[in-house]
Amino acid sequence: MKTLYDFTYPQLVEWLESQQIKKFRAKQLFTWLYKKRVNDVEEMSDLSKEFREMLSQTFSMQSIQLKEKHVAADQTTKYLFELEDGLLVETVLMHHDYGKSVCVSSQIGCNMGCKFCASGLLKKQRNLTAGEMVQQVLFVQKQLDHDDERVSSIVVMGIGEPFDNYDHVLNFLKTINSDHGLAIGSRKLTISTCGIVEGILKLANEPLQINLAISLHAPNDALRSMLMPINQAHPIKELMEALMTYYDETNRRITYEYILLDGVNDHLEHANELADLIHGQNAYVNLIPYNPVDEQPFDRTSFKVALKFYDQLKKRGIQVTLRQEHGVDIDAACGQLRSKRLKEQ
Ligand code: SAH
Repeated sequence: MKTLYDFTYPQLVEWLESQQIKKFRAKQLFTWLYKKRVNDVEEMSDLSKEFREMLSQTFSMQSIQLKEKHVAADQTTKYLFELEDGLLVETVLMHHDYGKSVCVSSQIGCNMGCKFCASGLLKKQRNLTAGEMVQQVLFVQKQLDHDDERVSSIVVMGIGEPFDNYDHVLNFLKTINSDHGLAIGSRKLTISTCGIVEGILKLANEPLQINLAISLHAPNDALRSMLMPINQAHPIKELMEALMTYYDETNRRITYEYILLDGVNDHLEHANELADLIHGQNAYVNLIPYNPVDEQPFDRTSFKVALKFYDQLKKRGIQVTLRQEHGVDIDAACGQLRSKRLKEQ
């Protein structure tokens, strides 16, 4: 059943008008949903009884239910939700010194088949709706409300490939960004993609100025195609051309994510090749420690080797960070909790 969270603000205005309802109701509804954050239409006390009844009959108020919650030693919190059709989805809350960020899943399973990833082991069952993504964030925000705290940034880096579900992901981000909605600034929103070129080019023309992260993970086609099947469809040259277009249109700095896999992509030659590839771009590289997945044959690069890789990139004038990992003790990496539960079932 559709929820009120599926509507962006302009979509809600349009729907209300199609029902011959005054459009100022959209503002009232968004205030109840996103500012007062009520859980039930019945709490929307300035709406008439008939209107509330009509809303309750047309929409379900909540389509995700908390199944499990795990808090790691570093306070990273992982939520496992059950959707109306019984499928499971993961959301992670991370605490940084610059604020609280929520990692949102965009699909149930994923079809991209990256060889190191737990999500790819389970094929895509369906796309998440905009409302299901909005509710992941709202649920976490409602928990933070108890301590008067706020979600300050969103990364679409959970299970799924956001550009394989483009419209719903964009609608979700529009609601999160809207002044009528959660009002999280567009600069605090990030989409991470494995490199779907059509999505990158489409995003380049969106008025919403959100951040783009590219899961690169390898500096050449031979290695990247082995790790990430998407590279066969969109090889590195095509990806780089799309990113140039994206940069020309948006002037926004690009983030490259690079998981360090022991003995696979972490040699100094790889660092040099990577530097050659992105040299001169307004971009930075986020080196990510690998969270080993039981079924996959990869290991984490040692910290010592990671530092050498990092130093080499620095030496070559590349902006780089060595990412801290969050919540290792609770399987917070992509798809790990969900795949564990599915195996148990
Ligand atoms: N499909 C999108 C977003 C989901 S994956 C993408 O590819 O970007 C989010 C990030 O986590 C990606 O960079 C992905 O490559 C990385 N990732 C996947 N499995 C991982 C693991 N086991 N350890 C560390 N990072 C992982």
